[in-house]
Amino acid sequence: MIKEMAALLQERGVYLHEIAQIVYDLQKGYVPDLTLEYCVEVVTGVLSKREVQFALLTGAALDVLAEEKKLPSPLQEIIQKDHLLYGIDEVLGLGIANIYGTIGTTSFGYLDKEKIGVIGKLNFNKINKVNTFMDDLVAGIASAAAAKIAHNAGCLCCENADKGL
Ligand code: MG
Repeated sequence: MIKEMAALLQERGVYLHEIAQIVYDLQKGYVPDLTLEYCVEVVTGVLSKREVQFALLTGAALDVLAEEKKLPSPLQEIIQKDHLLYGIDEVLGLGIANIYGTIGTTSFGYLDKEKIGVIGKLNFNKINKVNTFMDDLVAGIASAAAAKIAHNAGCLCCENADKGL
């Protein structure tokens, strides 16, 4: 199923290493020996989870259907124009971001605002393209991967707590 997920992302103009780059940028300040290869591995792990796959399938399908003008009105216009008050794309992305705990929520908020890397590219590419869901799905996957890395690496305050400091 991971191959299918990678292919689906690629069809929508997103490569796994681009998501991994966002994860790397989010976590490099906290995990000194972090590598891009490890980030790719963690992103792949996130994509192996069924709830992530279901969210990705749902959001990508809605983007494609909107591109093909096959959605019922007014949903067609809302998704096609990425209506400012339509927050269901963010809800789907947040659903992914939260799979490894609330650390993912913070990263998702940051990515939603700053739109770094491929997220910015998706958000900018709107000529004959609908990426209303895809930018949030990518932000969700990157945020979940960043949260997983943060949990695996632990943190100084937890280590100090373990030592009774
Ligand atoms: Mg969006």
